[in-house]
Amino acid sequence: MLNIVIFGAPGSGKGTQSARLVEKYGLNHISTGDVLRAEIKNGTELGKTAKGYIDNGQLIPDALMIDILASVFDSFKDSKGVIFDGFPRTIAQAEALKTMLAERNQEVSVMLDLEVPEEELMTRLIKRGQESGRADDNEETIKKRLVVYHSQTAPLIDWYKKDGKYSHIKGVGTMDGIFADICAVIDKL
Ligand code: ATP
Ligand code: MG
Repeated sequence: MLNIVIFGAPGSGKGTQSARLVEKYGLNHISTGDVLRAEIKNGTELGKTAKGYIDNGQLIPDALMIDILASVFDSFKDSKGVIFDGFPRTIAQAEALKTMLAERNQEVSVMLDLEVPEEELMTRLIKRGQESGRADDNEETIKKRLVVYHSQTAPLIDWYKKDGKYSHIKGVGTMDGIFADICAVIDKL
């Protein structure tokens, strides 16, 4: 089973590339951001809790995210593989993912780090906010999310390097070009 972590700052293109991977390799996709947005839309208790954090550019507490992740993962039956998009976002989440997979005799196959310069991220997210109306894609919240990314999420780069799973992907260029680079890594696994 392929367990692919797609990693990168907000707006780095994780969702876009995940959709292509799903189609090409027949994988299941877990986007924690999509799960939370669906909960908010449905007005659930979890959605109400999540909204407070998301609108403020903050992360949802680890314990909550880890439970959600495990239950979505276990809902996939006879899966060829899973793409983890937006998870892990903290060292605690990476450790929990490792444990959860080990308990199921599995492991992360690769962590793909989509690297995109900050100015480009800002431009993409502001444009996405105008087009999709996503509440957290406004300049003030984007800035907070980038601070959170640098302080809480970027340390995962070294964590996955030490774990021997890290792969760098240049996240700027055409969507097809970036996808080709990602496939070249996966096809070597
Ligand atoms: P991209 O544009 O690359 O898909 P993103 O950062 O814009 O990424 P999402 O992954 O959709 O967006 O996440 C949106 C918000 O949901 C985050 O800012 C955070 O508040 C919350 N969230 C998503 N995943 C997690 C997680 N693993 N842990 C904590 N909070 C999370
Ligand atoms: Mg996304």
